[in-house]
Amino acid sequence: MATRPSDGTNQSLGEAFADYVPSLEGRDIVTIRERYGLVIDGQEREAADGRTLTTIEPGSGAPLAEVARGGAADVDAAVAAARRAFDDGWRGLAPRVRAKYIFRLARLIQDRAREFAVLESIDGGKPIRESRDIDIPLAAAHFFHHAGWADKLEYAMPGMDAHPLGVAGQIIPWNFPLLMAAWKLAPALACGNTVVLKPAETTPLTALLLAEVVAEADLPPGVINIVTGDGEAGAALVSHPGVDKIAFTGSTTVGKAIRRELAGTDIRLTLELGGKGAHIVFDDAAIDQAVEGIVDGIFFNQGHVCCAGSRLLVQEGAADEILRRLRRRMDLLRVGEPLDKNTDVGAINSEAQLGRIGAFVDEAEAEGCEVYQPLGALPGQGFFFRPTLVTGLGGSERIAREEVFGPVLTVQTFRTEDEAVAKANATRYGLSAGIWTEKGSRILWAAERLHAGVVWANAFNQLDPVSPFGGVRESGFGREGGRQGLSEYLRLEPRA
Ligand code: NAP
Ligand code: MG
Repeated sequence: MATRPSDGTNQSLGEAFADYVPSLEGRDIVTIRERYGLVIDGQEREAADGRTLTTIEPGSGAPLAEVARGGAADVDAAVAAARRAFDDGWRGLAPRVRAKYIFRLARLIQDRAREFAVLESIDGGKPIRESRDIDIPLAAAHFFHHAGWADKLEYAMPGMDAHPLGVAGQIIPWNFPLLMAAWKLAPALACGNTVVLKPAETTPLTALLLAEVVAEADLPPGVINIVTGDGEAGAALVSHPGVDKIAFTGSTTVGKAIRRELAGTDIRLTLELGGKGAHIVFDDAAIDQAVEGIVDGIFFNQGHVCCAGSRLLVQEGAADEILRRLRRRMDLLRVGEPLDKNTDVGAINSEAQLGRIGAFVDEAEAEGCEVYQPLGALPGQGFFFRPTLVTGLGGSERIAREEVFGPVLTVQTFRTEDEAVAKANATRYGLSAGIWTEKGSRILWAAERLHAGVVWANAFNQLDPVSPFGGVRESGFGREGGRQGLSEYLRLEPRA
């Protein structure tokens, strides 16, 4: 059994992959400019104080582009533009016309899907297979889904009069840049709101490509404004008195600060925060499928997934066999260049995140946990981390309790159903959980008891615009997707 390789190469797998020829998706299909501005009122402009930030390509570590670093003055201009767009037309637009615009966005994203996928992988580091097959199609699906609701809100909210809230401030993270933008923008627009969107500082480029699509779709200026920047721009948006709603996806720490900031105001708030999802495997589970589910649950998107199944709980009798097969499966995961179509695990989003993940694993090892990582070469540049399995935990280690947000799976065992649920619930988070068993009654029994906004059975990480997504406890509140997601962007009054 291999433990942690000390350097980038190894005799066995390193050699097996030595003559591997990558199959790269062409980066020439995207144009990356040297400099990007903010998009306010349909116009691109520099930040008021001229500041910029550099977005990096995680797969190489090289700078990609300079992007405007928005501040309070820019947020103020963007909120004013969104208010004008709301008052001057968007709120009063016939719902079927709103629908038409959102359908256009969906179709244009589909038309330019390859471009979006390549840009997402370059700027964020995720494997092209995922951006091509999951992120971009799902983003288009969210616009299609919500376009369909725009003129059917009275059916979505029976017995209620549904009104838009006004201006929505939306702050998103770097793990699913375009998809999180779609989760935020599509319902807001469908419900008749206008928007100021703040992308994450490490992944602004697909939101800026989306701004091109918004112009192409001929949306009225000011309906969607994009203020790139760092946490300062996010904070300015949260504290702006002109917004009617804040929708935030990000860390629990920032989410809590936002909630404190908005306490006592009537600004509507939804928070999609961190997670520490339990992935429970009973000894009667279909073992190969469960192993695939476990791999997908934690190594999808390098584990930069709020709903990742980062805590594996296996029933004692099946643990040895499952871990044996899991290690073998991990050995076959190809960590590599994000634009390589055969890459399974791409680049870690930033050097800072790479450092955080490494620190978690080093600390666990120092505390006496066993760390397993497949050997084999990592790319010579960029930010990469091997898929990692951590066993021998007591349960009180930081790695067992806190969100790592990387390709790191901890393992604990359990004997009974009650113990499985108790261990799964022993966290301050409550976003996702997964159960693998052949027994339907056990799935229903456990799903009722698990403190999680989403519970998957014999599957993991399945996302669909029809199904509401969100957390409980310190994973936040509010839902995105489904009918529930719409109501977060509406003021409802009982129909007279
Ligand atoms: P983060 O630091 O909280 O950042 C999220 C967003 O908020 C970014 O756009 C960030 O800007 C901005 N921001 C930072 N400080 C702010 C402040 N004081 N006020 C307002 N906005 C601020 O989170 P992250 O580390 O980038 O993202 C990873 C976290 O997001 C994980 O904990 C993950 O679980 C969570 N997440 C949750 C979901 C979900 O649906 N529940 C989905 C994806 C991710 P900068 O990028 O410039 O810092
Ligand atoms: Mg980047």
